[in-house]
Amino acid sequence: MALTISPDKEDLVEQFDHTPMWRALGLDLDAHSQLLEILGTAYKDVFLSQQNRPKAMAYLDFVMSEIHGLRIRELVAAKEKGRKVVGTFCLYVPEEVLLAVDAISVGLCAGAELGTQAAEQILPRNTCALIKSFVGFKLAKVCPYVEACDVVIGETTCDGKTKAYESFARLKDMFVLQVPRMKSPESSTLWRSEVRRLANRMEEISGRSITSESLLEAIKTVNAKRRALHRLNALRRADPAPVSGLDALLVNQVQFYDDPVRLTQKIDELCDELEGRVARHECVKPSGAPRLVVSGCPMSAPNWKLHNLIEKSGGVVVGEESCVGERGTRNLVSEEPGSKGDLLDRIADRYLKIDCAIFTPNDERAEHVLDLVRDTKAQGVVHYALQFCTPYQMEAFKLAQACEKRKIPFLRIETDYGAEDAGQLSTRVQAFLEMVR
Ligand code: SF4
Ligand code: SF4
Repeated sequence: MALTISPDKEDLVEQFDHTPMWRALGLDLDAHSQLLEILGTAYKDVFLSQQNRPKAMAYLDFVMSEIHGLRIRELVAAKEKGRKVVGTFCLYVPEEVLLAVDAISVGLCAGAELGTQAAEQILPRNTCALIKSFVGFKLAKVCPYVEACDVVIGETTCDGKTKAYESFARLKDMFVLQVPRMKSPESSTLWRSEVRRLANRMEEISGRSITSESLLEAIKTVNAKRRALHRLNALRRADPAPVSGLDALLVNQVQFYDDPVRLTQKIDELCDELEGRVARHECVKPSGAPRLVVSGCPMSAPNWKLHNLIEKSGGVVVGEESCVGERGTRNLVSEEPGSKGDLLDRIADRYLKIDCAIFTPNDERAEHVLDLVRDTKAQGVVHYALQFCTPYQMEAFKLAQACEKRKIPFLRIETDYGAEDAGQLSTRVQAFLEMVR
């Protein structure tokens, strides 16, 4: 059955009982239903309680209400037609190569504390929450995305992920890409060959050949999604902000799950509405709300903790220097026609520009943060690092110095997915907002 996700949810929810599908995927139905309940409550508290949201966010609300339902049904239907579903954990996995064999790419980084105890049976306790979460989700059998995947692509980025994949590979079919940690000509040669190795593996898995035409089409699809996200980010630069940081973060998170063509259209519809708001000076927060940039570790859904604290305290997040944000969308791949080899190299080169903290040196990240502060007219930077994430915690010192030189207020937060420190964080965020006000 062809499915069209539409915000007209009443009909569709009545039409489908997802339980048999979740059972067939091997989910633990009790644990999964607890997860959905927690997610539903959190979504209501965090998102639906916001005032004066853009109407176009109804699509995102609907997607989130069916994130384990209709979207999974789409994946299952595509698999029945022979398409492959490929899970990824990191920005370094080129979506274009997956799309070029008509595979569906889904992000698997999990943003909730679940299955932690089980994860700690096979991982050290001092592992970051993101890694514990994706391992925990698999062990607790609560993630229909990972269960629907035909293969999962890992990458040798930080030490935690690199080693965790050895355990994860015992639970799921995996293919690991070797990401270099320096940006030298030798690294570029290695990385280009890794992208070709991925292309070969995807051809084997899918039984389809990658052609220059299929690659070019994939490049255009991913570029279009990134352009739409650029447009959204540009609109957030308006003062007063026409959309909350929470809603913009949600769009950036959903881009890892939703169909890229459909989502691009929906982001453009949201941007059309936001343009009207900017013209009318219509804002989501009282005029004069302190504007902040958040920089650091990726925030995978449903990790809304820091944005929620900032915005419930009266601030507004106007940009994310993060993998779920500008770091992930910054560069496009040229759409000039070329041979398959040329296009693969172009893709590889685009991805090697990503300024993840696992690289050394990684001076461009500080420059990007300063540029973002200037462009968004932000009054301060909140640096967000997960506990036990050495690369981002280390870089926080360098970023603090860079901001200090420009007299940009800087707040360093280290946290995890739990709610235990919410009170203490809220106090620190409020004090910071007072200072920048
Ligand atoms: S922070 Fe680095 S390792 Fe983590 S998802 Fe982003 S690019 Fe990948
Ligand atoms: S948050 Fe840090 S430690 Fe965790 S996976 Fe990403 S880079 Fe690695």
